Amino acid sequence: MADFRNDISWSKSRDGKFRECLRAYWFHYYGSWGGWDAAAPDRNKEIYRLKNVRSKEMWAGDVVHRCCERALTNLRRGIEPLDPQAAIDATIQSMRDEWARSRSGDVKERLTEHEYAIPVPDAQWRANAEHVRRCLATFYRLPLYEQLRSLPSDRWLEVESLQSFELENVKVFVKLDASYRTESGEIVIIDWKTGRARGDDHSMQIATYVLYASQRWGVPPEQVETQLVYLASGEIQTLRLEKRALDAALSRIQNSIRDMLQKVDSPESNAASEEDFPAVDSPRLCRRCNYRRICLREKLIRELDPSPTARL
Ligand code: SF4
Repeated sequence: MADFRNDISWSKSRDGKFRECLRAYWFHYYGSWGGWDAAAPDRNKEIYRLKNVRSKEMWAGDVVHRCCERALTNLRRGIEPLDPQAAIDATIQSMRDEWARSRSGDVKERLTEHEYAIPVPDAQWRANAEHVRRCLATFYRLPLYEQLRSLPSDRWLEVESLQSFELENVKVFVKLDASYRTESGEIVIIDWKTGRARGDDHSMQIATYVLYASQRWGVPPEQVETQLVYLASGEIQTLRLEKRALDAALSRIQNSIRDMLQKVDSPESNAASEEDFPAVDSPRLCRRCNYRRICLREKLIRELDPSPTARL
């Protein structure tokens, strides 16, 4: 277990947490560390448990990704995937099982709405399942799926495999939903999105994909294409980062890494003192935060108006 250390690393989601609330960032990346151990202090165990709680929207996204991953992993291995309707039905059934386990208090499957006793009308749970059904139906009927079905096995690259590369001596984690090499040797990276197509800035995330792919498969960055596939609508955004955009995204990632390193007591040990990570004063953020139970109990934040919470 000598290598099992809480090393500092970078990811787009870590950057998001760092920018939103430093205390939530500390809970997530430091306070939760070791909380899986039965001998850990109670607060540490609670932080770890809350880290793994997810909202119904995050859960829906995860369920869709798992189904797509199963289908593509089978295709890649030359195994005929389940018929689309059977795969969708099995996914919805697994959602029912997971929902029941969450409601019964299962810590591995816990949903925010159950954890915080947020009233959710049945219609909203059904809409969540319908969203999953719609995303998966889109996945199976996209021309892209047919294209992937006929892809020769030697052109598949990675499907949902957690990988990393080094930047500023820090590990940057990437997980490509799917990737393959075209006939002409270029790299295509596919990223499933289950939210609505919005004007979100994905440049840092795409830059990590491009840098990873370029190092991993030895192609120039301009030969890496990213396809953002919005499964709720079927819209596909195809992106190639030009050198200037890639450099700008890279510089933002480097700045983000430096900011994170400045907050730790020592980059070598990656120890971080909780008092250096203040709670944010933002009811909007706190209402949807996994750690609000702790912050409220410890009076780090104001009492939250329950009504907006109920609309989570
Ligand atoms: S409840 Fe608010 S202050 Fe506390 S960790 Fe979450 S976002 Fe930060």
